[in-house]
Amino acid sequence: MSAFHERAAALDAADPLAGRRELFVLPEGLVYLDGNSLGALTKGAKARVAKAVEEEWGRGLISSWNDAGWVDLPARVGAKIAALVGADPGHVVACDSTSVNLFKVLAAALALRPGRRVIVSERANFPTDLYMVEGLSALLSQGHELRLIETEAEAHEALGPDVAVLMLTHVNYRTGAMFDMKGLTQAAHDAGALAIWDLAHSAGAVPLDLAGAGADFAVGCGYKYLNGGPGAPAFLYVAPEHLAQARQPLSGWFGHKAPFAFVPGFEPADGIAKFLTGTPSVLAMSALDAALDAFKGLEMATVRGKSVVLCDLFVEAVEASCSRLGLTLASPREAAARGSQISFAHENAYAVMQALIEARVVGDFRAPDLLRFGFTPLYTRFADVLAAADALAEILRTERWREERFQTRRAVT
Ligand SMILES: *Cc1c(COP(=O)(O)O)cnc(C)c1O
Repeated sequence: MSAFHERAAALDAADPLAGRRELFVLPEGLVYLDGNSLGALTKGAKARVAKAVEEEWGRGLISSWNDAGWVDLPARVGAKIAALVGADPGHVVACDSTSVNLFKVLAAALALRPGRRVIVSERANFPTDLYMVEGLSALLSQGHELRLIETEAEAHEALGPDVAVLMLTHVNYRTGAMFDMKGLTQAAHDAGALAIWDLAHSAGAVPLDLAGAGADFAVGCGYKYLNGGPGAPAFLYVAPEHLAQARQPLSGWFGHKAPFAFVPGFEPADGIAKFLTGTPSVLAMSALDAALDAFKGLEMATVRGKSVVLCDLFVEAVEASCSRLGLTLASPREAAARGSQISFAHENAYAVMQALIEARVVGDFRAPDLLRFGFTPLYTRFADVLAAADALAEILRTERWREERFQTRRAVT
């Protein structure tokens, strides 16, 4: 056993989260390091979806909206997520997709800063976030301008008196680099602007304190580190000081004060429910609701503690065994500056990842040249980290990735 393997064995033996892996359904022999794209299935979600289909839908039919509590799912799931993101329960709701929720909170934020025309965001942001700004700006026809920054220092410089909103993704999807939420939110406020945070790669992965950071709005994803299942509902957060005044444009009946009064004329609900639009996706929401129980009784600090050691071990093991094999660390080396993922650049990243997947180590590829590995502390073992590093070294050393079958790109990478 190498020194690395001995260390991993000791870390696994002392892991306070070791028992959580039991809550997941994971294929035998697979090292799954793609929980930042699609979190693994929990046993609880599997059972809950079966129950929701057979009992609630199959037998309960329409009465399940009341009897099985379907109508309360957005608020109930929102409250569970609130506990993970540092918010009070009444300020988070689960609904729609991250893209749609971003549209809603961005519109609400811009309306709170009339006369200011600039939205500051990151050039390397996940594209949908920027696309949604473009679409909303075109619809509003008020001459909004998207100002793109590349570094945290540039973000500070970009915050002038013309800025309405600073809209950033907390942890970058490609590199895992993490912005200073509190400092940037404060800077936005000092400039008279509002701050919107996208928590797609942070919720369930790093400790968050939306209330403490003074964030104005936030959105996040249900199917990444929250393990809610493919296309799971997303969530949104509205700060207490904006809840009374904020208005969102997708004013559907679920956001109405009295949806079942069926009256013409939209009157927003009190509280976070005004950010709902239409009927919740009950089966998907049920899966997310059950999946969130994997976090029950956990401190996010414990999750983060393990995440840091998993990521550090991976970097160290890969660099020890893959030196001079064409890999460059693309994530911040310092743990405090990144989320729960590690990316390496390689000229032939796509083919290398395909060869890794064939070797039963699942990460993913992000164009043009990144090998991306997500570390979900609830089910990733230290032994898995070393198995992944060993497989990567073997593929690079033998150049197996050059084989023809690893070169063809599929629709989803
Ligand atoms: C994953 C991700 C999304 C996904 O948006 P959907 O509407 O769920 O497709 C959006 N933004 C960021 C930053 C992401 O990482």
